[in-house]
Amino acid sequence: MRDFTPPPVTATPPARPWVPLAPVLSRASFAKGGHAPVGNILDAGQVRLVTSGRVAIALALRAMGVAAGDIVLMPAYHSLSMIPPVLWRGATPRFYRVTPHAQVDLADLDARFDHRVKAIVVTHYFGFMQDMAPIRAWCDRRRVALLEDCAHCFFGEQVGASGDYAIASSMKFFPAYEGGVLASRRHDLAGIVLHCAGAGFETKVVLNTLEHSFAYGRLPGLRLLLAVPLRAKDLLWRLRKAGSARAPALAPASSDSEAGFDPAWLDKRSSWFARLLLRRVGHARIVGRRRANYAALQNACSDLAGARPLHAVLPDGACPWMFPLVVDAADTVFARLQREGVALTRFAETLWDGVDASVCANSVYLSRHVLAFPCHQELRADELAWLVDRIRAALQS
Ligand SMILES: *Cc1c(COP(=O)(O)O)cnc(C)c1O
Repeated sequence: MRDFTPPPVTATPPARPWVPLAPVLSRASFAKGGHAPVGNILDAGQVRLVTSGRVAIALALRAMGVAAGDIVLMPAYHSLSMIPPVLWRGATPRFYRVTPHAQVDLADLDARFDHRVKAIVVTHYFGFMQDMAPIRAWCDRRRVALLEDCAHCFFGEQVGASGDYAIASSMKFFPAYEGGVLASRRHDLAGIVLHCAGAGFETKVVLNTLEHSFAYGRLPGLRLLLAVPLRAKDLLWRLRKAGSARAPALAPASSDSEAGFDPAWLDKRSSWFARLLLRRVGHARIVGRRRANYAALQNACSDLAGARPLHAVLPDGACPWMFPLVVDAADTVFARLQREGVALTRFAETLWDGVDASVCANSVYLSRHVLAFPCHQELRADELAWLVDRIRAALQS
């Protein structure tokens, strides 16, 4: 579930915009156009819509038959949320290396392989696809099941096409409060049966999605219309909390680098509202706007000393999750930007216990030096301009 701290309510509006780190719902969200149509993970075969990417990982591992005693090869450069599903199966993660540009190190896969390895997870970082043909061939040769982690790569022609299974995290690309995708082109998903998580959950998703958008100044008309009912809802929830010390959780732990994983959500279908958004929000606009915003950020950072984009070019048809910038003095720059309230994140800032430079020096370097900035479709022009201005200032001072 997306973590969100609403901006503080101040008497005088802040001189700078509050920039949402992830997409928020606006009227423009439903506009079409912006880019020639590209494929996405929903076209990658059979699909199940669940409540988070990590739940989809767990379902994929179970479907692959991963069980106690097995080893799952995991990238040393990872989100903490990817590991608990492996442990939930009773299996052991074994970490493989990535190159300085976060590509799978194929030679290292050979070094890590033994007969206990049952599956491998491959991540397309920041929306840049891995070169899947040699990885698929490696898996076929070794009889290892392949899980494509498309959490950063919802869109793209070949996304999810090479894996036995593929997963995605809807919240990273859509203005949704929850959502994960399990897809497979090679296996039948009929055995995976999902149930509605309940009226409380369905309601919460709608209200939280709207309140999150209101907090960033989106949908002002609807905000006025809903002011009274939303206040009544807050009151009711406060009463309900006061009444029962242990009210059931209405939301799965998820999103960003939180390692929370609750198996109770394994058989829960994504909410009606999140599923509606997946269909109705303009896909071509998402791709077009993200590419344009990414290009603007890349352009603005091209002449800065002490920082360089992780990738020199954004390939045709790729749809970025965020703009990853490799910064020499990352800690200082991160602290400076945070103080100013700039929206940014450090993917893989914390690595799983035991993953250090002896396992993969490149992963440790990337986890410390990559600052990722939002390039999502809901950034407004003034927000993007402010972001660019603050990034340049922080790197030049
Ligand atoms: C966010 C993320 C996940 C998990 O997705 P959730 O929807 O947050 O559970 C998996 N893999 C990667 C690489 C991620 O960044």
